[in-house]
Amino acid sequence: MLTGDQEKVRKVNRSLVLNTLRLHAPISRAQVANITGLTRGTVSNIVNVLIEDGLVFEDKLEDSKIGRPSILLGLRPDGGAVIGVEIGVNFISVLLTNFVAETLWEHRTPTFPTQSQTEIINQAEKIIDQALSVAKEHELRPLGIGVGMPGLVNIRQGNLIIAPNLHWKNVPLRLIWNQRFRLPIYVENEANLAALGEYYFGVARNVDNFISLTSDIGLGGGVVIDGRLFRGGHGYGGEIGHIQRDPQGEPCGCGRIGCWETQVGPRPVLRRVKKELQQTPDPALLEVCAGDLENLTFEMVVKFALDGNQTCRQAIEEVSINLGEGIADLVNIFNPDLIVIGGAFILGKDIMQETIQKTIFSNALPPATENLRIEFSKRSSEACVLGAVAVVLDDILREMVIN
Ligand SMILES: [Zn+2]
Repeated sequence: MLTGDQEKVRKVNRSLVLNTLRLHAPISRAQVANITGLTRGTVSNIVNVLIEDGLVFEDKLEDSKIGRPSILLGLRPDGGAVIGVEIGVNFISVLLTNFVAETLWEHRTPTFPTQSQTEIINQAEKIIDQALSVAKEHELRPLGIGVGMPGLVNIRQGNLIIAPNLHWKNVPLRLIWNQRFRLPIYVENEANLAALGEYYFGVARNVDNFISLTSDIGLGGGVVIDGRLFRGGHGYGGEIGHIQRDPQGEPCGCGRIGCWETQVGPRPVLRRVKKELQQTPDPALLEVCAGDLENLTFEMVVKFALDGNQTCRQAIEEVSINLGEGIADLVNIFNPDLIVIGGAFILGKDIMQETIQKTIFSNALPPATENLRIEFSKRSSEACVLGAVAVVLDDILREMVIN
């Protein structure tokens, strides 16, 4: 019988081997031992169990350097199926992947403010049922479901505490879906999952210190420190959108005044353009929104700004400066190697990039920006569901201690 500590060491070693295979396969047992620092005997024992569990395969391949066959290891794509779910403010997105995170099936559907919480949860359950039946067709056992929510989540209990933009409070989603699906359920804040998605599959792949920022309605941030998502003591950390930057500013969805998210993102851009247009009407802009400024979108403003409209350009410029100033503070605190910018900001990339970059570099302390890169996400709309898949794999592969 193993003691608690021995059991923990065994689990950590097992996940170390699995994660090494995820990053470096195909490789031999000896190479795994070299990379992990584990003894060859320990690696062999772990690998044998993983092969028995159907998570790892071995293949005899000719090694050209030594001229004799060598046995290489890899993760089995059919090791299992993983489901990633994002419940957004106005959509549900579900992704089914195999054990090496290759997409097998995906589905995205809109939701509406008139729908109740129960209706949206039921709608998501039906899509997850479809994903599970696709997994069954592929003869894959489901390993778990990762769920991203736009709000504060108690990750230990899997409870959504509050989602201001969805108007949901205290939803024990893990409990509900544990009973419904009989699978491990991982509930997380969407911005944290987006960061994990960037780390596993996106522009932050293998960057161990970075911050991702994404804005569609609110402003979400995920902070990765030394290859681990920063969650704080109880999982509520990293809410950088609610740093108060202007005590005399606009009211925020969290109930306070002048949070950073009231200054950056599509909403403040639209607010400023509308205000200017009420004072100085612009026939071309009024025409494109059919005479009603309520129809004005961030996309329209970006297009007009690119065509040289000064009102639109200045509104985006102001938001870019506010974004850059806030990022500069984060750079001073965390000294990341990379900032990943996603969400609606991607639409404005061509106008925003230079100002954001300039503001960060002139506001942060110079040593902290020495190795800093700023990049826009390449798969921003999928980053959260990819992260939801990653959080399940992460738990299996790396024991990120969620439960
Ligand atoms: Zn706030």
